[in-house]
Amino acid sequence: MKVDNKVRPKIELRKGDVVIVLSGKDKGKKGKIIRTIPDKGKVFVDGVNMQTNFLRPTRDMPQGKITRREAPLYVSKVQLVCPHCHEKTRIAHKILGNGKSVRVCKNCHEVIDKV
Ligand SMILES: [Zn+2]
Repeated sequence: MKVDNKVRPKIELRKGDVVIVLSGKDKGKKGKIIRTIPDKGKVFVDGVNMQTNFLRPTRDMPQGKITRREAPLYVSKVQLVCPHCHEKTRIAHKILGNGKSVRVCKNCHEVIDKV
């Protein structure tokens, strides 16, 4: 019997989802997912977990440069905010009549995905 040792965290969140941060310095912050990294179980959330980088001055940039950009968060650190009831919620799944699987809010039972 073949055993798959690779435990990949399954990402149920998608680009465009609004999530709330559950822990860390940005706890309680809400933002839209701008990118997911399924292989690493991480997501980039707009305006959350910002990291500042200082670039040394170079000939082209005598002033140096300060850049701010999002660093990815583990999916376990964020939770989906339902677009219907606006509560943080866990995700359930439902199979529609046409066989399509959609995500459903466990709170209000509304379908989260656009059908
Ligand atoms: Zn809901």
